[in-house]
Amino acid sequence: MIEDKNQQRTELSNLGEFGLIEHLTKNFKINQKSTVKGIGDDAAVLNFEDKRVIVTTDLLVEGVHFDLSYMPLKHLGYKAVMVNLSDVYAMNGQATQITVSIAVSNRFPLEALEELYAGIETAAKIYDIDVVGGDTTSSTTGLLISVTALGTVSENDVVYREGAKPNDLLVVSGDLGGAYMGLQVLEREKEVYKVNPKNQPDLSMYTYIIERQLKPEARKDIVKLLQDLGVKPTSMIDISDGLSSEILHLCKHSDVGCDLYENKIPLDPQVISACEEFNIDSTTVALNGGEDYELLMTISQEDYPKIKGNPNLSVIGYVTEKSAGKHLVTRADTKIELKAQGWKNFED
Ligand code: ADP
Ligand code: MG
Repeated sequence: MIEDKNQQRTELSNLGEFGLIEHLTKNFKINQKSTVKGIGDDAAVLNFEDKRVIVTTDLLVEGVHFDLSYMPLKHLGYKAVMVNLSDVYAMNGQATQITVSIAVSNRFPLEALEELYAGIETAAKIYDIDVVGGDTTSSTTGLLISVTALGTVSENDVVYREGAKPNDLLVVSGDLGGAYMGLQVLEREKEVYKVNPKNQPDLSMYTYIIERQLKPEARKDIVKLLQDLGVKPTSMIDISDGLSSEILHLCKHSDVGCDLYENKIPLDPQVISACEEFNIDSTTVALNGGEDYELLMTISQEDYPKIKGNPNLSVIGYVTEKSAGKHLVTRADTKIELKAQGWKNFED
């Protein structure tokens, strides 16, 4: 579906490992004060002074986490960075550096890796992080990409999954279900393309949800917003695995229960219309779709006036005593137990 505009094909073997690393990383600039030594030595050297250091890593595997038939490599590079930054922001921290490790088969020419690194470079620029290292190796078949992100947070500001108290408000950033519905559209177009490669799909009515799937943004802005509003959440988690499973994690770590209100779940109009078209229940998608790199947090009732009406934050429920259980309160005002489905089970 996505045409390869770059027709040139330079075999990786022409460059050798060091030539390749040099070529891919030559544009990276160091902007962070905490980076003492970046790419080029045996290891990077960082100086975080009196800050707490956050470290997080994710591994993306071709055929498991991404499909290159509709995921342009540039977007994959960008997304691999976002997935990690989102975890740093979920600690209420600031991301400062990443390392990028790749395993590639000879199926990929240099031009493909240039695309991947263009996405990584764009992400690094926009989110103001330094790329300070990585590793490059070969793979027998597909592409693997692993990003490790580092960040900092002061001791007073760090927010964990534990800390939610009964009566706290359950709050989520942005809107939910878009990434999953974007994937549904892309999967459908891939099938259409297989039958008729000449068919040029009109995807203009799905721009937002496709972007949610292909070019997600980590919510750096929410960390800043909370700081500007003077709100420190009592607990926080990133909801890349789906709202329901992440709420359950949060409740488990905090030893509490919750009531989540179906009618409060924020949905974009494109998600609602795509759900109608695909005949899928929008609440199920919001709860279990996953890959929405939003932040779920709990905040004390006292802080409600500070977040009230903010378009970036939606109150979707309350924290309860553990003994009350974990429930979804439906539009029909019935309570059903929240279960973690994960998006894989969700397909059958
Ligand atoms: P080593 O032999 O110690 O593994 P390398 O030759 O693999 O060192 O790496 C040389 C430098 O390039 C190091 O600073 C390393 O972190 C960096 N580097 C290697 N691969 C990548 C990559 N894919 N992306 C970014 N930096 C990389
Ligand atoms: Mg190496």
